[in-house]
Amino acid sequence: MTWHVLGAGSLGSLWAVRLFRAGLPVQLILRDAQRLAAYCQAGALTLVENQQERHYPIPAQTAAEPQPIQRLLLACKAYDAEQAIASVATRLIPGAQVVLLQNGLGSQQAASALAPQAQGIFASSTEGAFRDGDFRVVFAGQGFTWLGIEGDSSAPQWLGELEQAGIAHAWSEQILGKLWRKLALNCAINPLTVLHDCRNGDLRAWPEEVNDLCDELVMLLQGCNQASAAEGLHDDVWRVIGATAANYSSMYQDVARHQRTEIDYLLGYACRSAATLQLTTPRLLALYERLRSHLTERGLPVT
Ligand code: NAP
Repeated sequence: MTWHVLGAGSLGSLWAVRLFRAGLPVQLILRDAQRLAAYCQAGALTLVENQQERHYPIPAQTAAEPQPIQRLLLACKAYDAEQAIASVATRLIPGAQVVLLQNGLGSQQAASALAPQAQGIFASSTEGAFRDGDFRVVFAGQGFTWLGIEGDSSAPQWLGELEQAGIAHAWSEQILGKLWRKLALNCAINPLTVLHDCRNGDLRAWPEEVNDLCDELVMLLQGCNQASAAEGLHDDVWRVIGATAANYSSMYQDVARHQRTEIDYLLGYACRSAATLQLTTPRLLALYERLRSHLTERGLPVT
């Protein structure tokens, strides 16, 4: 069965290359005829891994092609997910499976609703990849990917193909808890690195600010019936800050490159959820406000 990979960016290319070199059928779906022409010109996806670069001539097409899709990896940013799935919705056959790689929360549900005939599988990944050129991706950090459908313990057979491709993964029937935990870690670290203009490890200079945010995030997770995602959050946040001390957060990098952030699906989602539950989270709200002003001052979108 063909893996259709929509979005030949960092993570999409990383998945596509590993599936392709394991001998599995892969088809890239690019944004439009112009992007397809640019890909044809490049001739292949390039993966840089352990300082070695290799080229993989994976077939590509646009969403306008008519062939049915049974398995789709949606590998765009959260803010592009709805438009991206809409572009292939009529090609998804009943019972098709769509793996949603987006960070944060909210986009997966919205995208799945646009293709109700398909089954949405949510993913939460700690792998690291970035683009150092068009159709070139650098595999920057080994990681792990949780995949799952909330409340469904039966992992699909095709997970074996991920094994074959060397993609470290596991099935989780509590995938929402995984996504909430990652969202909480992100909310406690990433916006502060942008506002303090610092690396993750430099947040050790503002322990009270980080801990106060963690207090509210714990309350939020508990309020959202994600008590296990709330367990040990403070320690985990400090562990991540220590383990990634020299790194710039993904949000920091987006702002530094003057690119749109996924704020609306991270801190924005957290604040909206707190409001719905009528929770009092003044520090999260103040952080959201400061971050939005910071982005507006730089001409970046706040959604
Ligand atoms: P990225 O490098 O910006 O790639 C996104 C790709 O999606 C781009 O190639 C873009 O096309 C494509 N795209 C957007 N809309 C499309 C459409 N309608 N049709 C076809 N292609 C479309 O993003 P990323 O870093 O891979 O991130 C993807 C998601 O994974 C994000 O939610 C991110 O937070 C999450 N994530 C990323 C990493 C990582 O290390 N990169 C790690 C964990 C989680 P163009 O090239 O034409 O713009």
